Amino acid sequence: LFSSNLVPEARMTFHITILGTSSATFGHGRFLTAQVANIHDRLYLVDCGEGTQLQLLKYGINANRIDRIFISHLHGDHYYGLMGLLTSMSLKGRQAPLHLHAHAPLLDVLVAHQRAAQAALQYPLHFHPLEPGQAGVIAAVPGLEVEAFPLRHGIPCSGFLFRETPKPRRIIGERLPQGMPSELIETLKLGQSVRFGGKLCAWEDMTLPPKPSRSYAFCSDTVYHPPLAEWVRGADLLYHEATYDSRLADKALAHGHSTAEQAAQLAMAAGARHLAIGHYSVRYADPALLLEEACGVFPPTWLAEEGKRFHLDIDPDMGIGLSCERLPAKLP
Ligand SMILES: [Zn+2]
Ligand SMILES: [Zn+2]
Repeated sequence: LFSSNLVPEARMTFHITILGTSSATFGHGRFLTAQVANIHDRLYLVDCGEGTQLQLLKYGINANRIDRIFISHLHGDHYYGLMGLLTSMSLKGRQAPLHLHAHAPLLDVLVAHQRAAQAALQYPLHFHPLEPGQAGVIAAVPGLEVEAFPLRHGIPCSGFLFRETPKPRRIIGERLPQGMPSELIETLKLGQSVRFGGKLCAWEDMTLPPKPSRSYAFCSDTVYHPPLAEWVRGADLLYHEATYDSRLADKALAHGHSTAEQAAQLAMAAGARHLAIGHYSVRYADPALLLEEACGVFPPTWLAEEGKRFHLDIDPDMGIGLSCERLPAKLP
């Protein structure tokens, strides 16, 4: 339960880099859905639209540092960049295993490509099939769990929730007796008292509450679906698609998508702290209208934009703050 105490303090990063925000096709300089979550200095790629490897190069992210890839569904705008990326990883000497979480038919696609090329990847690729409607933990590493949950779209489609596991309590250094062995300190951090030097050392006296655990929820393509709020409840940052504005609500429903207003309603119902919207229809040269619409319902809304990085940081008062930076772009 408290495995996060294995994560060194300096590696407590938690940020999301947006690589693509366009729905269906390229337009207005926007790329197709892909994001990189850097959590505790490990990289997770979420969706891999065409052009994702160019975007990784452009924003200085080393693809061979990616540990896991999560693909929400098998519409092309969410995975057509995958074959190129997997192949480039191999050409660049990757040997470390890669974990791929996706709906089962993707495996047939990968196998067909390798058969046609008569070439295999030079590193182990572990395929973890997602079942339609699957809900619950699909990946766990020390300090982090990833849950899948079902979205409502034309084909099986999964959202993903990245959540830090509960953290150990914080030691109050000046209250610790001299020379206490580290095993006893670790025990105090778990909220258990210890005996040392003939005295009882109470965890209540020597520790403070743990740092809060941060969470990020990703809802790629979905109609407005109120039950989703339960899966993403309290997320510090919720990404929710906002393909259309509210005048096109009928079209959104017919095509399996949401409006910006609906994304904001979902964020509100879920008690999310912040909302990032994306997956903009190419009919919007500028998604400012979508932002305005969402902010009318849920003010802490941000536009996802290529090269934008959202940081979830723990501030000195133990609150979770969101900040944004824009990465410089390099020519691939
Ligand atoms: Zn899409
Ligand atoms: Zn789709």
